[in-house]
Amino acid sequence: MTEASMVIVGGGKAGARAAVAFRENAWKGPVTLISDETLAPYDRPPLSKAAITDDAEPQPTYLLDEGMMASLEVNFLRGAAATAIYREAKTLALADGKRIPYDRLLIATGAEPRQLLLAGSERALLLRDIADAVRIRNEFSEGRNIAIIGGGFIGLELASSAAKRGCRVTVIEAQPRILMRGVPAEIATRIAARHAEAGVTILVGASIAHIGPDKIVLSDGREIAADIIIAGIGAAPRFKLAEQSGLAIENGIACNTYLQTSDPHVFAIGDCCSFPHPIFGNERLRLEAWRNASDQAIVAVENMLGGQRQYEAVPWFWSDQYELNLQIAGLPHLGASVVKRVPKDDALILCHVSAEGRLMGASGIGQGNSIARDVRLLEMLIGKKATPDAAQLADPSFPLKSLLKS
Ligand code: NAP
Repeated sequence: MTEASMVIVGGGKAGARAAVAFRENAWKGPVTLISDETLAPYDRPPLSKAAITDDAEPQPTYLLDEGMMASLEVNFLRGAAATAIYREAKTLALADGKRIPYDRLLIATGAEPRQLLLAGSERALLLRDIADAVRIRNEFSEGRNIAIIGGGFIGLELASSAAKRGCRVTVIEAQPRILMRGVPAEIATRIAARHAEAGVTILVGASIAHIGPDKIVLSDGREIAADIIIAGIGAAPRFKLAEQSGLAIENGIACNTYLQTSDPHVFAIGDCCSFPHPIFGNERLRLEAWRNASDQAIVAVENMLGGQRQYEAVPWFWSDQYELNLQIAGLPHLGASVVKRVPKDDALILCHVSAEGRLMGASGIGQGNSIARDVRLLEMLIGKKATPDAAQLADPSFPLKSLLKS
């Protein structure tokens, strides 16, 4: 396949990592990276954290800069929107009329923020790119009233960042508690308590009646002062391009365990794709997570070059709020019972164990890196489908590493 051409659509974490992976796999042929953003690929996790709290005006943290792309001989097309895939002709169409032929195509188009659909919601800012982060940061001055709609990761990380900048913050969450999806209640409660300590008001089970010029009015009549409104109400996978070209869709672009779509020449990775996970009984997952984007890029590229490697990395993500670090590994919702491990004062790890005794997930919260090592080891045990002894899991002095040998 030396003359074949590899084309990646999407210049986020997944697409950028894939471009590098082609060269790591000694691929000598052409690699084209197409991004609808004007900047070279940059990292998004800082956008809700350091980009808001640092004194200096935020700068993108490039994943691939011009120099790296030149040395890797990656043909980077910036500000270029892919509009159609002509699969029979193996050609990608761009909005400017260009046609890009491919032998293998990788779709890494990510996810986009859900839009709030309410009267007055044009006031709500969204956070997706560095320009959004700069705008939000410039609004976060001391004493301003910030209303954040959505108590998920964006909402809570921005609430923490706004509180650090001296703003008065209210988070409005529709569900009965924050972080309802994917974070166990006991851990969410600790996070909520830390926000309360920082002076952030969290309103749960709250529905918005309308948004006025300087306030949000809830259905029960409560009014929340709002100089600035930010909506972090979830993300939707970007799969229109794939869908219009007839690729199978199932909560995202449907892939097999090799990250191949319903067309064997087209692969998909990151937030936009769903895939069956072999270590969880082939449950179909779609993960919006930084590490997943990177790990999938490595596996998909190997398979695009003729490999046959299943994607079976254990899901993992983190969130930083104040001095707290939250980490979730595996799929906690598949646990039937919980074993608590307390590695240090103020740190808590929940081990989620199935009815058969298999470790399915681990969720931890602690200051700094207090839970990192244990969660990493638990993640490895999850990957090995381990059935650890509950008493050993619960004993913080018991070295989890020793279980990896058995
Ligand atoms: P999210 O984590 O899904 O949280 C959104 C929350 O807003 C959900 O609890 C949702 O409830 C709630 N909501 C929806 N509509 C609402 C409404 N009208 N009023 C009040 N609450 C409402 O999504 P996100 O925080 O917007 O994050 C977006 C993306 O960024 C995700 O891909 C996320 O993974 C990523 N991100 C990740 C991190 C991290 O991993 N540390 C950090 C920042 C961003 P329902 O569940 O009922 O919809």
